[in-house]
Amino acid sequence: MTQDDILVQEQEEIARQKVIEIIANNPRCHKNADDEQRIRKAFELANEAHRGMRRKSGELYIFHPIAVAKIVAEEEGLGATSVISALLHDVVEDTNITLEDLESVFGPKVATIVDGLTKLEGVFDQTASMQAENFRKLLMSMIEDVRVILIKLADRLHNMRTLASMPEHKQYRIAAETLYIYAPMAHRLGLFAIKTELEDLSLKYEHPHEFQAIADKLKGKETDYNNIIESIAQPIRERLNAIGFEYDIKARTKSIYSIWRKMKNKNIPFEEVYDILAMRVVFKSKEGMNEKNQCWDVYSIVTDLFKPKPDRLRDWISSPKANGYEALHTTVMSPSGRWVEIQIRSERMDEIAERGLAAHWKYKEDGKENEIDNWIKSIREMLEKAESNSLDFFDAFKLNLFASEMMIFTPKGESISMPIGSTALDFAFEIHTNLGYHCIGAKVNYRLEPLSYVLKSGDQVEIITSEKQKPKYEWLNYVTTAKAKACIKELFREERKNYIFMGEEILTQELQKRKLTITARILLKLKRTYHVSSKDELYFQIGKGTISLDNIEDALTMKTENKLVKIWKLTFGKSSSSDDDSDDETDEELDENANKKMPKGKNVILSDESETRRYTIASCCNPIPGDDVVAYVDEDNTMILHARRCPVAMKLMSSRGDRIVSAQWESHKVLSYLAQIELAGIDRKCLVSEVTKIISQDENVNMRSVHFESHDGVFTGNIFLYIYNATDLQLLIQKISKVKGVDRVSRKDRSEDNDFMRDMQEYTSF
Ligand code: MN
Repeated sequence: MTQDDILVQEQEEIARQKVIEIIANNPRCHKNADDEQRIRKAFELANEAHRGMRRKSGELYIFHPIAVAKIVAEEEGLGATSVISALLHDVVEDTNITLEDLESVFGPKVATIVDGLTKLEGVFDQTASMQAENFRKLLMSMIEDVRVILIKLADRLHNMRTLASMPEHKQYRIAAETLYIYAPMAHRLGLFAIKTELEDLSLKYEHPHEFQAIADKLKGKETDYNNIIESIAQPIRERLNAIGFEYDIKARTKSIYSIWRKMKNKNIPFEEVYDILAMRVVFKSKEGMNEKNQCWDVYSIVTDLFKPKPDRLRDWISSPKANGYEALHTTVMSPSGRWVEIQIRSERMDEIAERGLAAHWKYKEDGKENEIDNWIKSIREMLEKAESNSLDFFDAFKLNLFASEMMIFTPKGESISMPIGSTALDFAFEIHTNLGYHCIGAKVNYRLEPLSYVLKSGDQVEIITSEKQKPKYEWLNYVTTAKAKACIKELFREERKNYIFMGEEILTQELQKRKLTITARILLKLKRTYHVSSKDELYFQIGKGTISLDNIEDALTMKTENKLVKIWKLTFGKSSSSDDDSDDETDEELDENANKKMPKGKNVILSDESETRRYTIASCCNPIPGDDVVAYVDEDNTMILHARRCPVAMKLMSSRGDRIVSAQWESHKVLSYLAQIELAGIDRKCLVSEVTKIISQDENVNMRSVHFESHDGVFTGNIFLYIYNATDLQLLIQKISKVKGVDRVSRKDRSEDNDFMRDMQEYTSF
């Protein structure tokens, strides 16, 4: 035996010991000798199969499945079947072992779960939406056996914990995907601890400096925080002891990711995030006494001692959150003048809050469906409706994940939970597809309202239908739930295809009159002129008549070079052809070029004077030179630049990673880019003119618009300006901040205005 073989043997022995520890630490894994035996057998099989394989970090591969099994057993509290599946989760994908092999040794359950965790073949192809397709498969398996998703989350968690050994461009992609889909999923399943860790790890790789800065600040304030918590905990302990409660008081700070999110959303510094501290009172429910009442008992003790913030009482015990969470939250003022959130829970509620789904089943009343069951049911419906290869599905699922819930009542008083923002029409579809299709309006609390009416929690809703009513395409504007959208879209999919076909015909004829044919160049111009995002949408609207081609002449002669929407050129790799923009090139040729020339894992260099490629600036996030950017190559082979932290970019990285290339700016001093700054402060005479003088005279920067407003001596301002790069902008901001009266100046990121961010805000609390 060589030195190496001996080392490997030693490592394998360490791995074996780890498995024995996992079994010993979880009572559900050694309930009977048989389970224990099966777990050991799974380890031996996985170890054999992965022998000779190593992870990027250099350690033996087998340590990965073991780490996943450990998370499954210890952090999710799952039993033997899950531990076995976790140990075997990569063998079918990466080794010669087949599903049939697993089935014959471990039975059909394990085989089904591992199948669900195995990616579809050909995942490494750069074709269409493999990521979305794989994700769909994962969900299909999840509705069969929910343990699939719990093990997948454990797998992702371990990969995130060890992400440092991956190359940088992969780190971004994996971190973005984690933040976009896996963390929300953990949240939706009630796995609070895992969700928080996934978010923090993603942030650490996406924005290492910002992550570190917040971590350092938290560390620096540790003593302060402890003192504040103690000043509140001490009196509460005395009172609880006096009336014989058994309890545990834990303190925690808001997670780094939540703090970061809040700073970004509200555009405030760390010091102004007021709800950083939280305290938890977890009590042991007294035998034969009502848990809810005991929560309120603790609540009244707390609020006797400390003044609560009136609008911050959250009662999740009368109606638990959709992910099963139960607790009572209040925010009180500490003696030193800081707000501290206090969460009151029983031990049972605490276990559900930390472990979510797994704990849920432990307490589930037999035969009774809970919120999680309902959720899985809704995923099943969604899977049945959505087209198999569609990105729509990804969006629909995402929507479903973020929705925060409200209670709506039927005329008979039955309560149905709906996402916030749902309309009467959503509600109709929620109850029954046919009710949706024939809905003409609703009585909300006995008052007649249109079907677009936005419901509020607690509304009682009666749907009014008519046999004559038929769904309309515009309804898509009135619905927000994934279910309603899927129902309406399904109905119109066929119709839409017809319109698209007609639209293409009409356009072809129009162009023929001018001796032209449809080319990529012409399509680009038309899309710009009519503000549509894709070729199909253009045809559809032409076919339907919402776009009339009356002014097609203007569109065709339009210059694509203007100040805001530019087509620039850039180079990457070795680019052979220089005629991408020529008028006689067809779509197909462009697509083919896209595949051939998609630079893989390479950095695109963005410079002013490069020659052969075009790119545009995404209007959602408006990056400027110097910002961290990624480029998305769209179907027309145009590069669209997004800020790396733009939610749209994160979504694209998660669903269409194959079309993302990382990009880097060269120094820019030729072209200028639109940016927006926001400022606020104490109003005084001449302030506006001083600020604008710095911008236009001292710094020689062009402004597009200036808007100032003043109320009771306090002003806010918004300035749009054309700037070369992020460094220049930073310098300008520093200069303006020195103007007397100016309290705060910052660059405004427009991506924060969109819906996604609002949803994120909803869902990131403690
Ligand atoms: Mn894995």
